[in-house]
Amino acid sequence: MKSLILNRLADNTSGYHLPQHPVDCPCCGLRQSVPALQPGEEAHCTRCNQHLVRIERNAINGPLAYATGSLMMLVVVALTQYIQIDLAGLHVTLTIPGMMRVLIAQDFGFLAEVMFMLTFGTPVLFTLLCLYVYGGLKAEQALPGMLYATRVMVRLRGWMMVDVFFISTLVAYIKIISYAQVIFGPAFYLTFILAILLIRTAQSVPEHWIYYEIQRLAGRNPTTLVPTAHTISCSSCLYEQPANRKICTVCGSLLYARRPLSLRVSMACLLAAIMLYIPANVLPMMITSNPLGTQANTIFSGIEYMWQSGDKVIAMIIFSASMAIPILKILAMLILIYSAGFRPLLSLPSLTRLYRFTESVGRWSMIDIFVVIILMAAFRTPLAKVAPGAASVYFCLVVLLTMLSALYFDPRLMWDKMRTSSSHPSSPTAGQS
Ligand SMILES: [Zn+2]
Ligand SMILES: [Zn+2]
Repeated sequence: MKSLILNRLADNTSGYHLPQHPVDCPCCGLRQSVPALQPGEEAHCTRCNQHLVRIERNAINGPLAYATGSLMMLVVVALTQYIQIDLAGLHVTLTIPGMMRVLIAQDFGFLAEVMFMLTFGTPVLFTLLCLYVYGGLKAEQALPGMLYATRVMVRLRGWMMVDVFFISTLVAYIKIISYAQVIFGPAFYLTFILAILLIRTAQSVPEHWIYYEIQRLAGRNPTTLVPTAHTISCSSCLYEQPANRKICTVCGSLLYARRPLSLRVSMACLLAAIMLYIPANVLPMMITSNPLGTQANTIFSGIEYMWQSGDKVIAMIIFSASMAIPILKILAMLILIYSAGFRPLLSLPSLTRLYRFTESVGRWSMIDIFVVIILMAAFRTPLAKVAPGAASVYFCLVVLLTMLSALYFDPRLMWDKMRTSSSHPSSPTAGQS
């Protein structure tokens, strides 16, 4: 048993804590002992530096405050004006629900659903679940379905894209101001605060500790089971469980040592993404029309047009989001899947860094989709009209599929493969970071 890197960030001021207990790192699989943690302290894996758990300084009130703030902001952002566009005497006032209505009216219901889920539905559900779970913890009451609520909350965390939408608005703004006057409404500025609040809320809900607290309310202590050859560390909550169980008794997730069919599902999502990336690049992404004619741009011709017309910054942002990130992400996933299934192509620290990078950047590819949606909502008069092309749907699917591919990939398989393929028994510990 190795002791963990422990960052002491604050003095203990509340009764909440986490006793010392064993965990298997969810990234590299190393079994280790988490020391007793107090509010404001966090633990990382000794081998791959994976973040394991951090108890908020204000363990209960902090997340409750962030989630309440986020929910209030979400309501205000949905109800107030986002931007106003003045073009040749015509005023177009945009709200976020208004943009979704325009999408549905133009028969792009799928994009409307995706935009609704990523910018509103997921954040609302996430904050409500957060309030429910933390409300129960604050009242020291085991509420019905708390484990299920925590599991859903944790899964929703990576699917909130208010920050991506905010950056997309800035990109769209640079494009719009060459044609029209733009006035930002209160919802725009509040979206920035909302994005920060949501990131903070997502950071402040450590599921490993929440499951401990929920079990404690039910009179159980999940940290007592001593790891043996007949126990297994749950991949979701990280607590030790008897290996013969199918479902974890601490968090209710499926119990497995490595995610079943991880590489196959991950590869299937990736192959689908690669196939859809072809129509996403060949078909038009955005169709613009004015009294002088209609122009259909693919992702690449759009970037080329912007570069030539002097919008070099937007050209570079769209190039990074729509071409560089998806291609790099697809290549990275191919390297990761090959390394875990056949032979490690890079050193384990490099593969781990590649995995974390791939997991974190994928969502930013949605910038182009959001920009097209904002432009479409802004320009919908006969004088200037923007419509999404068929490629927008394919591209949206590419982004979602590559995110799923990374989600299903179990990084522990890379460490397992290195251990079995290496003739040097000391190699697994070479990944100190
Ligand atoms: Zn690790
Ligand atoms: Zn569990």
